[in-house]
Amino acid sequence: MSRQAPRPSDVDPPAFADAADAQHLRIGGFVPLTTIDYPGELAAVVFLQGCPWRCRYCQNGALIDPSATPVIAWSQIRDFLERRRGLLDAVVFSGGEPTLQCALPAAMTEVHELGFKVGLHTAGPAPKRLARLLPLLDWVALDIKALPEGYPAITGVPQSGEAAWESLSLIQASGVALEVRTTVMPQWTALDLATLAATLAQQGVRQYAVQACETRHALDPLLPAPAIPLAQLAASIDPASFEQFVLRGH
Ligand code: SF4
Repeated sequence: MSRQAPRPSDVDPPAFADAADAQHLRIGGFVPLTTIDYPGELAAVVFLQGCPWRCRYCQNGALIDPSATPVIAWSQIRDFLERRRGLLDAVVFSGGEPTLQCALPAAMTEVHELGFKVGLHTAGPAPKRLARLLPLLDWVALDIKALPEGYPAITGVPQSGEAAWESLSLIQASGVALEVRTTVMPQWTALDLATLAATLAQQGVRQYAVQACETRHALDPLLPAPAIPLAQLAASIDPASFEQFVLRGH
């Protein structure tokens, strides 16, 4: 009898915290006000500790270890948010990889009860957990790092690409507002990037952002700096394939 290979959603990485109460959230950073992390809204950003991947270009190395000492308690952020009612529009949960914390749904529910919109920055490593969060979300920014087969060379983790692309399909099916983001690996050619963009457009992605790779504080100190300017690499992408297409960085 042949065995079926597990689907990515069957192999979600284990959660990083075992308690579902919002006060167990492990928080690695907090930005009380930003205009750039949730489109068109004044937002606070909560950075959650822990990530199952090790992307070569990761700029958030301090957030990867799930057991690092939290820098602020959820109760302090909640107190802050209560004082900002009417002054802030939204709270974004970022990371690290926020979806792996069991306390996240409770924290999102509290944020909604306080009257704020809820945003999420995710790389999509845990489709099953993401599916449970979708009813709580107003907006998602999803990193799509490459075509599925290109992921392990970036994240160091087998099947990471399948998980991320399954997450993309789940968000699209939910109808939650979505921005897809790609950070361009330094060795990529214009064809690599154009092929990824065309695949995303074909899949129905409407908001797409392509980001320059910052290598100065990258997790992999051997990652070379990009040789080709971002605008040149992205010149073969047809902006008309998307409702909104933006380049970030150089
Ligand atoms: S860039 Fe990669 S390793 Fe860093 S937080 Fe995001 S998914 Fe995790």
